[in-house]
Amino acid sequence: MRIGAATTHADVASSSDLASACGALADLASHIGDPHVRNRGTIGGSIANNDPAADYPAAMVALNANIITNSRTIAADDFFAGLFETALEDNEIITAIEFEAPAKAAYQKFPNPASRYAMAGVFVAQSGDGVRVGVTGAGSDGVFRHGEMEAALSTNWSADAIDGIAVDANDLLSDIHGDAEYRANLVKVMAKRAVAAA
Ligand SMILES: Cc1cc2nc3c(=O)[nH]c(=O)nc-3n(C[C@H](O)[C@H](O)[C@H](O)COP(=O)(O)OP(=O)(O)OC[C@H]3O[C@@H](n4cnc5c(N)ncnc54)[C@H](O)[C@@H]3O)c2cc1C
Repeated sequence: MRIGAATTHADVASSSDLASACGALADLASHIGDPHVRNRGTIGGSIANNDPAADYPAAMVALNANIITNSRTIAADDFFAGLFETALEDNEIITAIEFEAPAKAAYQKFPNPASRYAMAGVFVAQSGDGVRVGVTGAGSDGVFRHGEMEAALSTNWSADAIDGIAVDANDLLSDIHGDAEYRANLVKVMAKRAVAAA
């Protein structure tokens, strides 16, 4: 799949091509903010901004996406570099994102009731590359992959496989919306729901 950087969230959400190749990403886009935000915000703007509570970054790392710029291709794992920081250089513009359609995928988030930004959001994807789990909204350094969940789901693709995993609160955000322990629980619950949905 290739999605142009200036594609609005509303167009991602309503794409029939994307719905059949990766419905999880279309579904994610349909739950960003409100109609005003979805009709103005773009996938390129969202990932360039790299808000720690934005939804797309979790999908980009879980789908092992490539971020295409005017000068190079950057793997999602190397693109997101901390809170509101990316690997983009001065004058570098994202032109598209690309990824292979996964065999199974889903995204679940616990939205802040005012903004709809993720208090915690988990995107799970199973493909020929294996299982990848992207977590947004919770990490004190922004989006991250959860290796322990990836290993557990690689051998047993079921929500039960996550039961025995304790999500470490040490590196998670604490703010007025929720503390780190609360977010740790949300990450586990969202991951289980995502696997069940996928
Ligand atoms: C009320 C509200 C609720 C929201 N809720 C959510 C939510 O639930 N989930 C969520 O994920 N997001 C949410 N957002 C964020 C929203 O989805 C937008 O993506 C975000 O605000 C960035 O706006 P934009 O996409 O128009 O990018 P812009 O504001 O145009 O750009 C953001 C930054 O990225 C740079 N940039 C833009 N495009 C590119 C490009 N192609 N290449 C390089 N740099 C670029 C700009 O220069 C700027 O620095 C919310 C925003 C608002 C205002």
